[in-house]
Amino acid sequence: MNAKAVPVLMYHHVSPSPGLVTLHPETFAAHMEHLARGGYSTLRADQFLDWLQGREKVPEKSVLITFDDGYLDNYVHAYPTLKRLGLHAVIFLVTAWIGAGRPRAHAAERREVPPLPSHKECKRAIAEGRADSVMLRWAEIERMQADGVMEFHSHTHTHVRWDTLYPESTARLDALRQDLILARDTLEQCLGHSSRHLCWPWGYYDANYQDIARELGYHAQYTVERGLNLRGDDPLFIKRIDTKEKPGAWLKRRLDLYSHPWLGRAYLKLRGK
Ligand SMILES: [Zn+2]
Repeated sequence: MNAKAVPVLMYHHVSPSPGLVTLHPETFAAHMEHLARGGYSTLRADQFLDWLQGREKVPEKSVLITFDDGYLDNYVHAYPTLKRLGLHAVIFLVTAWIGAGRPRAHAAERREVPPLPSHKECKRAIAEGRADSVMLRWAEIERMQADGVMEFHSHTHTHVRWDTLYPESTARLDALRQDLILARDTLEQCLGHSSRHLCWPWGYYDANYQDIARELGYHAQYTVERGLNLRGDDPLFIKRIDTKEKPGAWLKRRLDLYSHPWLGRAYLKLRGK
């Protein structure tokens, strides 16, 4: 028993406010119920990396669930659903956007949940210095980590495009290194452990970026490229499946494709990938 391929799912928002990269809480619950009913193992990130590098076996039906950025709605809606179903997921945090303060209410509590604006409005709030109103707080992160439902890794400190901010390459790579160090140290300090997992913001990276990140301990690097993850594949190019506001049956088809190497390859070839 060992998986031949492990699909990595990519989510951003789970919120009733429609918008880009957003799933309605009911759609998300349908996806997760499909995984739970289908007997999928939702892996820890380290387990996934160890499997990829041939150090560990994982059940045939395994999947890694990831969230990018660290929105407040992940705590309000995704967390209670995952907890109810006994599933596990990873959140890649943008550390500069995480605030202090008490945990807000989530959907399984008998308190009014905070407002959850659309993706567009979240972006505006961050740009206007109101990140705390739309992003996670450390206290919420601690709670989700403490009961083992979520684990947290790096999505850099500032989530910027270093290539457009710094046209000159030495300055660009210096800025990237400083950012990754700050993100790594902040996470270590706040979560109490180190991490080998980094997700590239905007899906943007090059060989220099990857080298710097690897030097800093990030042996697993996550992209937004769609595709299969097979045992022995390069962990600097982890592929993910972007999820959509579509029913559980849609997810089932995706998982079938990306859990079976020959089926996945044939599909990607048909799509010209
Ligand atoms: Zn992002």
